[in-house]
Order: sequence, then C-alpha cells, then structure tokens
Amino acid sequence: MPPRLLSGKDLSEKILASLKPKVKKLDPRLVIVQVGDEPASTTYIRKKKEACESIGMRCDLMKLKASTSFKVLIKTIRALNDDADVTGYIIQLPLPGALHENEPQLFREIDPYKDVDGFTAYNLGKMFISSEFEHLPPATPAGIIELLSDAGIKIEGKCAVVVGQSNIVGKPIATMLLNRNATVIQCHKFTENLAQYTKQADILIVAVGKPNLITSEMVKKGVVVIDVGINTVKGKIVGDVDYDEVSKFAGAITPVPGGVGPLTVACLLRNCVRAKERQIDRKS
Ligand code: NAD
Repeated sequence: MPPRLLSGKDLSEKILASLKPKVKKLDPRLVIVQVGDEPASTTYIRKKKEACESIGMRCDLMKLKASTSFKVLIKTIRALNDDADVTGYIIQLPLPGALHENEPQLFREIDPYKDVDGFTAYNLGKMFISSEFEHLPPATPAGIIELLSDAGIKIEGKCAVVVGQSNIVGKPIATMLLNRNATVIQCHKFTENLAQYTKQADILIVAVGKPNLITSEMVKKGVVVIDVGINTVKGKIVGDVDYDEVSKFAGAITPVPGGVGPLTVACLLRNCVRAKERQIDRKS
C-alpha cells in the first residue's frame, strides 16, 4: 500500500485562512531584512510576501547590501525594535560572509516580543518549560507539529528520531516532541552508525541538507517520515530522504516540495499575529 501523503499545502492554506480575521482586526506588520542577494533567500522571501498578501498582512522588505557591517546591522535591528509600527521582523538566513559567524550576537539584539522567527534565547528557552510556553516557536518545528497533529499522528509514547541539531530546526523540534511525551533520539553529523537509530523511529524527522541521506535500509515499516531538507539536484528540489524507496516502507511521508515548506511560511505569519496579541497584552 502506498504511504499516506502528508501535504503541507492544504494545511498551510487552512492556517492562513484562520489568521485572516485576526489580521483584519489587529493589522500586524512584518518586516523582512535581507542582507545580500542570495537567490534561494529571494525565493523564500517572495513566498513569505505572497502569503502575507493573501491574508492582507502588511509586509515590507528591507534590503541591505551584502557588504553591510555588523555594526550597521545591529543599528538596523535596534531601529526595528524601537519602531512601534513593526510587529515582528526576521533576519533572512543565511547571512553573508562574516555576519554568519556573528548570528548569535545579532539574535541577542532582537526584541523577544518581535522575534517572530523564534530565534532568541528567550523564546527558545521558554520552550524548555512545556508546550504551554511555546508562544513564539521557530516556524519550521511549529509547522511539523501542526502537520503531525492535523494528521492525527500520535506523538506521546512514540520513538521520535531527529536527524540534525540546528538551533532553528533540529533542537527545537526535539524539544517540542519531548514536550509532547515522545521518546526522543537526536542524531547529528558525529552520530556513529546513523541507521542504528533511524531504524528505531516511529516518527523520523530529517533536517540535514543532504540528498538521499536516508535510504530504505535505514527505516522500519510503517514509519512516519518528515523530510525537512531542501536540496537542488539537477535543477530539481529534493529532500534528504530517498523518497521513492523509503515510500515503499513508510506509513506516511511528506513530499518535497509541498511538505514542511508551506507550513513554515504559515507558522511564521501565525507568530506575527501572536506577537501582536502579546504586545497588546504585554505578555512576553
Ligand atoms: P544546518 O546546516 O544548520 O544543520 C544541519 C544539521 O545536519 C547539523 O546539525 C549537522 O550535525 C547535521 N548533519 C550533517 N551531516 C550529517 C550526517 N551525515 N548525518 C547526520 N546528521 C548530519 O541546517 P538547518 O538550517 O537545520 O537545515 C537543514 C535542512 O533543512 C536544509 O536542507 C535546509 O534547507 C532545510 N530547511 C527547510 C526548511 C523548510 O521550511 N522546509 C526550513 C529550514 C531548513
């Protein structure tokens, strides 16, 4: 039997539609800061802008030169913090050159109230308390939880294996799964014998950026596979999972593209609405 296809497209449209009345009432404004001209970033930004337009949310792009200094970017961040008409803002990653090395210092400057990407230590740290404190979670992990929950896939008591340990996907999704009482195994580039762990997974989440990293020999029958990876191979977008082969064993699987990607955008916009609500109530 073919696996159940976990499409993020329909669900993201549902989430966006649910935000529309709140956007109308609260009129939040999102600002996207792009440093340089990376083509993939430009594509992601276009998708974010289109989603905002589709629900009537104000969204402005602030473009800075690739040569922008750390000092100037800090000044820009502080100005966005001080601007009462900016609900939330994101610094589109990856940052070019030396700025990339300074991401933690830059994130430290972001006002946690306006941190709609959920990258500040404050918003990430709050997630450790419990799922009730996941107020502004990073958008991709939030999208994965939405996808599992909408599909009625049980998390509690299941073995969830997360491959990848980035601060924006791997670590926060592991925390969110733990908050929902999964038994979580986190793997990364130093994990020896990756297959030994992935084979145990009831839910397998892969966020690495390496095409075909996960093959059919590495999964057990019936596994739920969430492929976060985005890679370009011969001009085609593919994930980290050998989709055709792993599909023969999986119980459910996300397509790439059209899986986690659209949900990331929808959850970012949801964070912007939440940020506005919390700013009104002054709840951090
Ligand atoms: P990252 O580069 O920050 O982290 C990659 C992780 O993979 C690291 O933790 C590393 O330890 C691990 N890794 C590398 N090689 C490995 C190996 N051989 N075995 C096991 N682990 C290994 O990446 P990221 O920002 O978390 O993104 C990961 C992927 O997800 C990328 O392809 C990115 O484009 C994609 N992504 C997609 C979305 C979306 O909305 N669909 C959002 C964010 C990132």
